[in-house]
Amino acid sequence: MTERLYYTDAYITTFTARVVERLNADGRPAVVLDRSAFYPTSGGQPHDTGRLDGAVVGEVLVREADGAVIHVLDGEIGGPEVSGAIDWARRFDHMQHHTGQHILTRAFIETANAHTLSFHLGSEDVTIDLNRTDLRPAEIDAAEDLANALVTRDLPVRAWFPSEAEIAALALRKTPEVAGALRVVRIGDFDATACGGTHVARTGEIGLIKVQRTEKYKDMTRVEFRCGGRALRDYREKNGLLLGLAGALTTGYREIGAALDKLQAENRQLRADLKAARQIVLEAEADRLWAAAPEHGRARIVTQAWAAAERDAGELRQLASRLTARPGSVALLGIAGEKSQVILARSAELPGPDMVALLGDVLGDLSAEAGARRGGGRPDFAQGGGASASPERLAAALERAAAAVRAALESA
Ligand SMILES: [Zn+2]
Repeated sequence: MTERLYYTDAYITTFTARVVERLNADGRPAVVLDRSAFYPTSGGQPHDTGRLDGAVVGEVLVREADGAVIHVLDGEIGGPEVSGAIDWARRFDHMQHHTGQHILTRAFIETANAHTLSFHLGSEDVTIDLNRTDLRPAEIDAAEDLANALVTRDLPVRAWFPSEAEIAALALRKTPEVAGALRVVRIGDFDATACGGTHVARTGEIGLIKVQRTEKYKDMTRVEFRCGGRALRDYREKNGLLLGLAGALTTGYREIGAALDKLQAENRQLRADLKAARQIVLEAEADRLWAAAPEHGRARIVTQAWAAAERDAGELRQLASRLTARPGSVALLGIAGEKSQVILARSAELPGPDMVALLGDVLGDLSAEAGARRGGGRPDFAQGGGASASPERLAAALERAAAAVRAALESA
């Protein structure tokens, strides 16, 4: 079994050891050493990374069967003597968060009678899940305040294997499911629990403990938090964001909420104004198209094709409706482009033609491909499109439709 150097000293970053076993971990070389400072993934804390001689240690895990620590490498190493070095920045971040977690967990018990059911320490998110779903913001603040007060007291943190008699006197918060010698982590007189992880020597090393947010998760509350350097980076990032927002809104950062409310109200008003103005413009345009349209007996036929940039489908529909609201009106309208759109409509009192059938002819003019032709509607209103068409080709197709309408009106 591997002697775990971090059990007695979490601050060991370099060590020498002997290779006692070589194996293959899913195609990558791996070794077991007689002793190691590398922490293997366990107890919610991720593994260390670093180097063994010339090879990068990318993963460290425990072999269930015998508790050996397996170091997965990116290449073969010599031996039997090897030198190891762990990535200290990563390890210290884990130590800050793991001790920070013990403190926050105990703080939630003290202030909110909320017990931690699980702990996750990831490269992005760090969370604990609490067995209450009705935590009030004041309770969360109280736990956070207590946790940071414990940091300020700079209490000693001790990790050791106590005797049976000592364990009985410790009133442990949590005892492990696994058998074997019990390792305990005690934070001053505040908290003692069974734990195999790596911890800072004094609580002052943790730095700030900051709850970022909470959310209901199953029948628990998930508390996301950050400690030390991660908390600082998070503060820096959010401070920068907030100051940038305040600058963009030309206000102080405390006034961002009010400025945003004002902006949203203005935006709603502008949208309403724009909608009203569009209606007026479309009505005027319908008038102009109607006045310019050639008369054919008791009907006027408006034929018009636009380029894609000039018109959208909603406006096309509105124009068609406004035109055909007038008696004796036929509207043959289209938008050219990658996906052309066509609306063929007539006032309901006109006898014909069937606009759905006519739409089929127009779309057939635009594309020989049956798959590119989609559309349908009622006898007095049909809409479709899909095929790519130039403004000229679309205009020609609509002119042919106009001729068909004239013929239909004459024979009616
Ligand atoms: Zn722990």
